[in-house]
Amino acid sequence: MMQFDVAVYGADAVLPDSRHISDILIKNGRITAILKHTGRKPAARRIIDARGKTALSGVVDPHVHFKLPAGNIVTADDFVSGSLSALAGGVTTVLDFTTQGAGTPLAGGIASRLEEMKGALHCDYALHCVIPSWKKLRRPGEQMRRAALRGVTSFKMFMIYESRGMRADDADLYQALLASKSCGALVCLHAESDTIINHLIAVHRGEGARGHARSRPDFTEWEAVGRALVWAEAAKAGVYFVHLSAGRSAEIIGAARARGIQAMGETCPQYLTLDDSIFSRKNGHYYATCPQVKTRKDSAGLWRGLREGAISTVGTDSCTFNTAQKNRWGGDFTKIPYGMPGVETALPLLYTRGVLGGKISLVELSRLMSANPAKAMGLYPRKGALIKGADADIVLFDPRFSKAVDWRKMQSNCDWNPYQGLKLKGWPETVLLRGVVVVEGGAPVKGAPKGRFTPCGRPTFV
Ligand SMILES: [Zn+2]
Repeated sequence: MMQFDVAVYGADAVLPDSRHISDILIKNGRITAILKHTGRKPAARRIIDARGKTALSGVVDPHVHFKLPAGNIVTADDFVSGSLSALAGGVTTVLDFTTQGAGTPLAGGIASRLEEMKGALHCDYALHCVIPSWKKLRRPGEQMRRAALRGVTSFKMFMIYESRGMRADDADLYQALLASKSCGALVCLHAESDTIINHLIAVHRGEGARGHARSRPDFTEWEAVGRALVWAEAAKAGVYFVHLSAGRSAEIIGAARARGIQAMGETCPQYLTLDDSIFSRKNGHYYATCPQVKTRKDSAGLWRGLREGAISTVGTDSCTFNTAQKNRWGGDFTKIPYGMPGVETALPLLYTRGVLGGKISLVELSRLMSANPAKAMGLYPRKGALIKGADADIVLFDPRFSKAVDWRKMQSNCDWNPYQGLKLKGWPETVLLRGVVVVEGGAPVKGAPKGRFTPCGRPTFV
């Protein structure tokens, strides 16, 4: 009788606070022990020789949009290609969003999105509930409480999109923050200043892809961040800012945290590694996102935020539109579908630019991409760390191996990539999902079991 199902043998394991050459022992999909590697053969049915490889806890991406309807189109990545793309990128758990309209009960939005996702994703998944309109819901606080009992504990609201009827005003935010606090949930905010952006869009319309950048200068983000922090402080509630793109947002959140406000920030690889010169490229409109990529100075500020703890997580905001979808803009930046692929390249980008670039350590990378998002969204300790008892979601990569980004060889359905041709290290070679090998030799294993819905518990401040 073998004591364990799988042993990951001799890996340089990135543990919550340190790195050790370890044997990771797995039984029934969970990590049963992490032992110091001695060279003795573990009693396991399958031994994965990981000597010379780095082992990370599977990445938890707190922000993806697969199969997202946007006007009369849908993202190029659906749940199948999106989740295969995730696994190939070492992301074993994703959080997607509900898509119900204003006034639809939250429970209905959650049930229908979960029905769409069921059996479709190859990685594990959880769900954020979007609140398109606080005012149009009957007893929204009570609806939040019920959703939280069903494992949906984070609620996304928008400070922009008045024109789509989706803008949360200050009173909505304040009430939602109070309600989230009383039921142990978390408000996730898209913080941008609506009326100023609308004004600047009108001013810069007709200026092509550059106009997109000019219409959303950094203050259109950090003004909204600062304002929302006032309501969070007043409500004594935690708050989570999605996809931060401005360096000054990180500064403001850092200062708020120092005053005891439970504010968390998320940034994305595109804001850390690209700058607004992309909008002058021939296909500059491909890079349009919301918010948009800002300046080199902003990237530097966001890296500092990650290092100093003002920013808690890295999410990808993967929202893939292909060239045909992007090319329908006709020179008008307001007509570009906003979003880019990202989930498949996030780990190699953060490893190469962050760890090898000397900005963060490997332990910090794992904290920012796995433990912290899992904690913030209430998935910890089941997800997010190589610890005893956790799901055996493990990423192995060869630190010497490097490869250029090439959309033609990726799992994503997208026919372009923002990092095309960029040489990166940190590409996952083997990925285990709950103890089962789902990626081997960098490619998804055919016929591997599908992902599961992972209910979120109470979000924790990180
Ligand atoms: Zn998003």
